Amino acid sequence: MYVFIKEKDTQKTFIDEKKIKENLSSNLNPDSEKIRNILQKSLDKQRLDPDEVATLLNAKDEKQWEEIFEAARTLKEKVYGNRIVLFAPLYIGNDCINDCEYCGFRISNKEVVRKTLSFEKLKEEVKALVSKGHKRLIVVYGEHPKYSPEFIAKTIDIIYNTKHGNGEIRRVNVNAAPQTVEGYKIIKEVGIGTYQIFQETYHYPTYKKLHPRGPKSNFAWRLYGLDRAMLAGIDDVGIGALFGLYDWKFEVMGLIYHTLHLEERFGVGPHTISFPRIEPAVGTPIAERPPYQVSDEDFKKLVAVLRLAVPYTGLILTAREPADLRREVLKLGVSQIDAGSSIGVGSYSETDPEVIRKSQFILGDTRTLDEVIYELLKEEYIPSFCTACYRAGRTGEHFMEFAIPGFVKRFCTPNALFTLNEYLNDYASEKTYKEGKKVLEKEIKKIDEKQKKIVLDGLERINKGDRDVRL
Ligand code: SAM
Ligand code: SF4
Repeated sequence: MYVFIKEKDTQKTFIDEKKIKENLSSNLNPDSEKIRNILQKSLDKQRLDPDEVATLLNAKDEKQWEEIFEAARTLKEKVYGNRIVLFAPLYIGNDCINDCEYCGFRISNKEVVRKTLSFEKLKEEVKALVSKGHKRLIVVYGEHPKYSPEFIAKTIDIIYNTKHGNGEIRRVNVNAAPQTVEGYKIIKEVGIGTYQIFQETYHYPTYKKLHPRGPKSNFAWRLYGLDRAMLAGIDDVGIGALFGLYDWKFEVMGLIYHTLHLEERFGVGPHTISFPRIEPAVGTPIAERPPYQVSDEDFKKLVAVLRLAVPYTGLILTAREPADLRREVLKLGVSQIDAGSSIGVGSYSETDPEVIRKSQFILGDTRTLDEVIYELLKEEYIPSFCTACYRAGRTGEHFMEFAIPGFVKRFCTPNALFTLNEYLNDYASEKTYKEGKKVLEKEIKKIDEKQKKIVLDGLERINKGDRDVRL
């Protein structure tokens, strides 16, 4: 059942505007030595404190920023290696009772075509995604009484049970409205990966202005939305801010305070952080000219600072961004990207001239999954569809990758190679196949003798037809 929340909103939360502004203003013009000490702390794999994050955000010249970028690249290589996890968004329905001014789905937008997938159509969408090689999805819903926890659970259940050829979807993450604890429990039952809720802006007055009506107008209900998810037993939660609504440095601080809050209350921070920038959307003037537009240069800065601030958290970069910028930002510490994405409701299984009018916004990177994989391989990344940890009950995998010595070598790299090999054998174009097999050979050479046999056996099993091989 959908529950419309009438709880009173409050500005008294763990996000303290005054404190954030103090953090930022009391750490202006940092000297290079201070910055280097902070970078060393990150490279020693420690989470940074708000004042340290504010110091990095206030780096004053190009030279200091270059050192920050370099440290982010080093940390990424040192902790996570060269794997990039791939996923696709699947929009289930765009009905919405909120009126978020930047979003094409908002209730007052008369130009958008409304649509909710039927269960039959959903199966077709899943088959279309599986036939391209996808294994991991994020399902996306507007906020509407139709999209009750039961409905969300049902759609996810259908996704898991729609097999196609050799493949199936093995992990479904969710981006939907905040729920009650009871609601989350219903959704958790079907076995979800991460539950994502983006706060959009951590600046209360801006939030209130941009969310004038509907349940989302309640800042505190949304801010504590992931607390309730954790209380319901969902271990992996994802936070995010929509960049362009307010000052980007303030939003980065908001994300850090949100992380600290979850760490303090639940002993574990968010599984992932997302940092979408506003993109143009049909019938949505504010999205054409966002009030605090973030330049590409500042975008790189915010990703690098986030990487350094929370070294153990996954960072997600979406196809909202154009391909060129994605290439650069990947190196700064991103661990997951979507590829071959289509964000019109129903647009994977049919070519729809109306796609833009059913979309929430317009994508910047429209390359196919195979093109993205080819390019990642060319740049010596290992594209990965791994879903092993969550299915083995190893939740909080980013934390383990980061905190347990040898974890990446023992689990992540072999599983990445297994899922890559599956992709190559089942879905790749000829040129991607060739490039991929070369990368596999190169990567095998890097593996310890002890581990090599296990990996070679797994790859051989896949070549003989086994699927879903994992450690
Ligand atoms: N309706 C739910 C909600 O608002 O949380 C979940 C889905 S909403 C479609 C997913 C996210 O898309 C929002 O949290 C917001 O950050 C992002 N978004 C909305 N409008 C956007 C735009 N014009 N450009 C880029 N991202 C946008
Ligand atoms: Fe609805 Fe989410 Fe869009 Fe807001 S961001 S209008 S809640 S779909």
